[in-house]
Amino acid sequence: MTDWKLFDSELLVAPGAKSNLAGRPTVRDDLLADKDAAKDALDECSKEIDVLQDRLYAEQKRSLLVVLQGIDTSGKDGTVRGVFNRCGPLGVKVTPFGRPSELELSHDYLWRVHDAVPRKGVIGVFNRSHYEDVLVAKVRALAPPEVIEQRYEQINAFEKHLTENGVTILKFMLHISKDEQRERLQARLDDPAKHWKFNPGDLEDRELWDDFQAAYEIALDRCSTPHAPWRVVPADKKWQRNAFIAAIVRGTLEVMNPTYPAKSWKAEDYKVV
Ligand code: ADP
Repeated sequence: MTDWKLFDSELLVAPGAKSNLAGRPTVRDDLLADKDAAKDALDECSKEIDVLQDRLYAEQKRSLLVVLQGIDTSGKDGTVRGVFNRCGPLGVKVTPFGRPSELELSHDYLWRVHDAVPRKGVIGVFNRSHYEDVLVAKVRALAPPEVIEQRYEQINAFEKHLTENGVTILKFMLHISKDEQRERLQARLDDPAKHWKFNPGDLEDRELWDDFQAAYEIALDRCSTPHAPWRVVPADKKWQRNAFIAAIVRGTLEVMNPTYPAKSWKAEDYKVV
């Protein structure tokens, strides 16, 4: 088994099965122990992702959507930087989802999400996503329970619609421990260069840790589908997190196998003067 298939099968939430989030480790030294080797593998994968992205862009037939979810400090931004740093900006579109604007709230919750789905040829990365509408929305009761209850199936139907229309979806939940979050939040307070990342609201969310974990568990249980399964990524060690995700993104793109379009002319028929 190649590494990526092993990682994939270990991190996958099997559709229809319980995700057992609480029982899932946030470190996987058993899968990946050597930090230097992991960094080399990440480097190789991100180079290869760039090559495959170029083919995807040239092919102009399909797209890849990478959904990153995780609580504050779980490393969503760091994943974007670590995994897609080799890709040219033309072919990768990163969309962060913050609190919905008034305009967004005047539409259904998937409106802004559908608008951000990558067009053909592009890798789209969602930094947070429509899952906030069953996560923070549930924990903070931003919508009535019966409305949230309907959303799991709506999300599954939406994602099925996308996959049937040429969008491959990879969903990663970045799984960190409560202790690791404490350290990362503290680091943001200790280092003036990280102050901009600190938001007092993050401490309020931390107090709701158990509620968020429970909401994640339900979302993983109910929305890991055959067309768009979830992977829970052990994310206490940034180098493990990046290596796992890069390997799975690369492996998925290899399976998609985008090809350069056939051309109707021969290079030797032309001369540049
Ligand atoms: P981040 O914390 O991801 O670096 P921000 O500081 O902009 O970025 O925080 C985004 C905030 O927006 C988070 O607190 C998140 O819970 C919130 N958010 C995202 N989507 C929604 C949504 N659909 N409804 C309510 N809040 C949301």
